[in-house]
Amino acid sequence: MDKAPDLTKKQLIEESNRCVACGLCLPHCPTYRILQSEADSPRGRIAMINGVVTNRIPLNEKFILHLDRCLTCRACESVCPNNVAYGDLIDQARKIILASEMPPHPNQHTRKHQSAFFQTLLASWITRPARLERLRSLIGLLQNSGMFPLLQKTVFSNRGAIARMLKQLPSITFPVDKQHKKRIFQRSWQTFYPAIGQEKGQVGLFLGCIARITDAQTLNAAIYVLNHTGYSVRIPAEQTCCGALHQHAGEPEKAQQLMQQNQRAFSEHDVHAIITTASGCGAQISTTKESFRVIDISKFLIQAADWNTLTFKPLAQKIAIHDPCSLRHVLHDQDYPHQLLKHIPDAQVVFLADNDQCCGAAGAYCIEQPELSDKLLDAKIKILMQSGAQILATSNVGCAMHIASGLRDTGSTIEVLHPVTLLARQIGMQ
Ligand code: SF4
Ligand code: SF4
Repeated sequence: MDKAPDLTKKQLIEESNRCVACGLCLPHCPTYRILQSEADSPRGRIAMINGVVTNRIPLNEKFILHLDRCLTCRACESVCPNNVAYGDLIDQARKIILASEMPPHPNQHTRKHQSAFFQTLLASWITRPARLERLRSLIGLLQNSGMFPLLQKTVFSNRGAIARMLKQLPSITFPVDKQHKKRIFQRSWQTFYPAIGQEKGQVGLFLGCIARITDAQTLNAAIYVLNHTGYSVRIPAEQTCCGALHQHAGEPEKAQQLMQQNQRAFSEHDVHAIITTASGCGAQISTTKESFRVIDISKFLIQAADWNTLTFKPLAQKIAIHDPCSLRHVLHDQDYPHQLLKHIPDAQVVFLADNDQCCGAAGAYCIEQPELSDKLLDAKIKILMQSGAQILATSNVGCAMHIASGLRDTGSTIEVLHPVTLLARQIGMQ
């Protein structure tokens, strides 16, 4: 079933009726594995959605609780023999929940089942790139001033969602302008980065929202590798958030608006493809009806790069590949990072065990459902420690931040990187 901004009631009933209650998805569902309750399984949730839409059960707090606990990881979809479109069902059910809680005025953020912080983040921050860039500078300055740990322990310590968000943030560094011998605090992206040598084509680069603040390293690495493989990179300034957080929070129309803005921004350029470096964004953009050609960077490089022209420094380390749910269960592109990193001489590249299980990041889940999220993170950290890897490569910024914060808590020295960052380093990026 195509992703649509809105399913009709009839479509919702038809799709949920396609679940034959076989239960094959249950052992793959992270929340069922932890809670062992039917209401926290895909089958149970589908039955509840069907019950609410057909007015057989009430839309009450219990219904909201069990749906909120779903990670939208879509591991259930990957194994369902009937191809039930669970992702569409849960998104639509959340829209129904949201409509049932609508405050009297659109600027009031009074939804009971979401934290005020998350509602403010959705309404006022993630769709405004300029604000995010300023926020990045502010957070980076606080971190560099040494006041950040104190603020976390005092001002923000009782503010659950904010404290958890701050804990996830990596250390923000500012590049140095060598000519003027000063740090550059306000990041700005050029709109064009030319290919090095003969140009093979032009691609667009999708920046994302959170990645602008926390993962400029990966975006710079993507530009570096693309330029070195003969691709010029265009970064339209008008691009915005992909809309995934809105889509999964019950606001598909807002997600659709953001998608249309991105479409307008990129359609002004004659690009070969739109490259994403965060699989969460890639999954959202590529499954929307208005989509243009969107491709995860690892897949693009495997298909388009001429590997004979590149020289890699060897790296005698064990690299574990983590599969973000969006890459594995939605895009089905989980083999490409492995193929990419195998080009590094001496590197031992392995898949992390239990890669079909979510790490607990899941967009805003890590700040909205801390207990379940922590349990999943603990399990992921344990498996990672057991792997003996020195590096974890993951293709989604949210997973990277979440796992890195778990590793910091344990004092581990395992480095968490995007595959393309590692590749750029081995090609020669400083
Ligand atoms: S595997 Fe598919 S059909 Fe079977 S219970 Fe799960 S969702 Fe329903
Ligand atoms: S999306 Fe993930 S958490 Fe939600 S029901 Fe499916 S497997 Fe379980």
